[in-house]
Amino acid sequence: MNLHEYQGKSLLESFGVKIQKGYTASTPEEATEAAKKLQSETGTEWFVIKAQIHAGGRGKGTVTETGSRGVVLAKSLDEVPEKAKAILGGHLVTAQTSKEGKKVNKIYIAQDVYYPGDNEPEEYYMSVLMNRQTGRNMIMYSPEGGVDIETVAEKTPEKIFTEEIDPKVGIQAFQARKVAFNLGLSGQAFKEMTKFVVSLYKAYEGIDASMFEINPVLKTSDDQIMAVDSKVTVDNNALFRHKDIAEMRDKTEEDPTEVEAGEVGLNYVKLDGNVGCMVNGAGLAMATMDIIKLSGGNPANFLDVGGTADAKRVEQAFRIILKDGSVKAILVNIFGGIVRCDRVAQGVVDAYKNIGDIDIPIIVRLQGTNAEEAKKLIDDSGLAVHSAITLQEAADNVKAVV
Ligand code: GDP
Ligand code: MN
Repeated sequence: MNLHEYQGKSLLESFGVKIQKGYTASTPEEATEAAKKLQSETGTEWFVIKAQIHAGGRGKGTVTETGSRGVVLAKSLDEVPEKAKAILGGHLVTAQTSKEGKKVNKIYIAQDVYYPGDNEPEEYYMSVLMNRQTGRNMIMYSPEGGVDIETVAEKTPEKIFTEEIDPKVGIQAFQARKVAFNLGLSGQAFKEMTKFVVSLYKAYEGIDASMFEINPVLKTSDDQIMAVDSKVTVDNNALFRHKDIAEMRDKTEEDPTEVEAGEVGLNYVKLDGNVGCMVNGAGLAMATMDIIKLSGGNPANFLDVGGTADAKRVEQAFRIILKDGSVKAILVNIFGGIVRCDRVAQGVVDAYKNIGDIDIPIIVRLQGTNAEEAKKLIDDSGLAVHSAITLQEAADNVKAVV
C-alpha cells in the first residue's frame, strides 16, 4: 500500500525526522487557512502548494485543465487561493502517471524551506529499502538529489551509495556518520544528518515499510536537514498490526477493479494484455501468464481465485475480468486437487449462463480430480467454451483466438 506525501511526513515526524511542515486542504479556502496557520507557526512568507497524488515527478508535471505544475510556489498569502484552485480537482500528468493523469483531490500547503541565507540550499537523495539479494535492509543515498534518481543511476552510478544494515544489531552510529561524510557534510549539518538517517531508518522499521524514499532531503541555508518529499510503500502483510496506517489507505488512488476484486477476496492485478486469466494458486497463475505469453498473447491480468473455485467465485472472477475492454479471450486454468474439476466446470457453465452476454472465447483447462468428467460437462454444455486438459492444448486454443 502506498501513502501520500503528507501521510508519510506525519509518520516521519512521529519518529523524530525533521520535515518541511504543512497542512492539507481540499478547497482554496482551506488552503488559505492552512497558509495562515503556517505563517503564524513558522513565520514563513512564501508557501509551496503540492498536489497529493500517488505518483512522483509532480514538480515537473502538468495539470491538464489549467497548465499549472503539480508543485508551485506562492510568494504571498494572496497568491495561495488562486494557485491552489489551479491544481485542485484537475488531472495531474507526470512521468509516473498514465496519459490521463491522476485527479487531485487534496493539496498540501507547506512552508517554503528554500529561503536564502549563509549557504545555498542543497538537495540530496535518500531511501531505505529491502535488498532482496542480501535479504537485508539498506540505505541508498546520493549527493545528487531533487532530480530523477534513475537518471543519476544510469549516467553517474558512482554518485549512488548504499549502506547495508545488519538486522541483528540495527543501524549503527558509524553508519550514519558514513552517510553524512559521503554526502560531503560537516559541522552542524553533519550532526543533523546523522540524526536524520537514524530516525528515518527507525521510521522505516517502525511502520513495516518496504520502501521509504525522501527526494529531496534538504540542507537549508542555515544547515538544517529535513525531508521535503516522502514516498512510502507499506508492506500489506504487516497492516494488521498498524491499524492507524491501514486507515490511511486512499482507495481513489488505486485501480477501481483491483479494489472491487479485493473486496470479494480475489487476488487480482490488472495488466496491459489481451488474454484474461483465472487460475487457482499464485504459482500456477504465474505459469499461466508465461504460457499465454509463449503462445503469442499477452496476459491482461493476474488473478488467483484461491482454493474454492465454486460457481459464485468463478462468476465474480469472470465479471472482474470482463470489465477490462481489451480482453479478447479468457483462459481458465484450474488444478483440481482439493476442489473437484467437475464442480469447477459446473461453476464455469453456471457463471457463463448467469452473466449472459459473454461474446469472447473462453478456454477452460481443468486438470486433476475428475478432469475427464469436467471436460465432458463443458463439451456437452453447448456453450462457446473450449475445454482442454493439457496446458499445451489450452495454449494452442489461446493462440488460435488472439
Ligand atoms: P516531486 O516533483 O513529486 O518529486 O515533488 P517534491 O516534493 O520533490 O517537490 C518538487 C520540487 O519542488 C523540489 O525538488 C524542489 O525543487 C521544489 N520545492 C519543494 N519545496 C520547496 C520549497 O519550500 N521552496 C521552493 N522554492 N521550492 C520547493
Ligand atoms: Mn520528490
